[in-house]
Amino acid sequence: MIEMQDVWKTYPNGHEAIRGISLRVNPNEFVYVVGPSGAGKSTFMKMIYREEKPTKGTIFVNGFNLAKLKPRKIPYVRRNIGVIFQDYRLLPKMTVTENVAFAMEVIEAPKKLIKKRTQEVLELVKLQDKAVALPTQLSGGEQQRVAIARAIVNNPSVIIADEPTGNLDPETSWGIMKLLEEINFRGTTIIMATHNKEIVNTLRRRVIAIEKGEIARDEVRGEYGYED
Ligand code: ADP
Ligand code: ADP
Repeated sequence: MIEMQDVWKTYPNGHEAIRGISLRVNPNEFVYVVGPSGAGKSTFMKMIYREEKPTKGTIFVNGFNLAKLKPRKIPYVRRNIGVIFQDYRLLPKMTVTENVAFAMEVIEAPKKLIKKRTQEVLELVKLQDKAVALPTQLSGGEQQRVAIARAIVNNPSVIIADEPTGNLDPETSWGIMKLLEEINFRGTTIIMATHNKEIVNTLRRRVIAIEKGEIARDEVRGEYGYED
């Protein structure tokens, strides 16, 4: 479902952020991406959701070759990938419901379906009671649950989560992980970059370690492996 072959990413300033990565991620896998700051984790993830293009190599996501993707096809790929960030990135002037519904509006889903599906995912993340709140009225954990609802509302096959618990206290982080595990259990592939040693070493899943733009480790039920 995701396949990279000898992928390189050199930024315009000459920095080689990714240096010859090849891998395959199968449907329904849960993958942690670990490694020191600056190792290339975000760049790796950005290439999967086509925020950055590889300089060299091929990336297939659900059969689309991202390196050759025509700009008008980008929305088709993006709709199949939900993205979650450390800083939530909600639209500040929209309510919880509007933030989630907006992801369906941009793909021009029918109004009735938007209403039904938005309610459904807000129930899944247990935010029915906050439907008309604005992001500033929510705790960090609640904001991240809105971001998760928004990421899954279009039923993507893949979720990319870049340090989703990075701004959250341990207890709230475990709540977010429980949700991501539930989403994975329901059939969505999850690729999550994290510095959370305790989570990686407790909820044991595939671990891909990136160091200096290369894969340093790729282990089934791996460990975090760093001391930070
Ligand atoms: P990580 O997520 O592991 O911290 P990143 O993928 O964010 O790593 O960054 C990898 C390297 O590429 C870093 O040295 C970073 O400074 C550099 N980098 C990231 N984005 C850019 C950019 N847009 N232009 C130039 N260099 C960048
Ligand atoms: P946490 O303990 O997760 O950090 P907070 O202390 O920030 O949570 O918030 C506790 C509860 O109060 C949450 O349900 C949150 O939605 C609500 N809340 C926080 N700030 C506001 C606000 N400005 N207006 C309304 N509700 C708020």
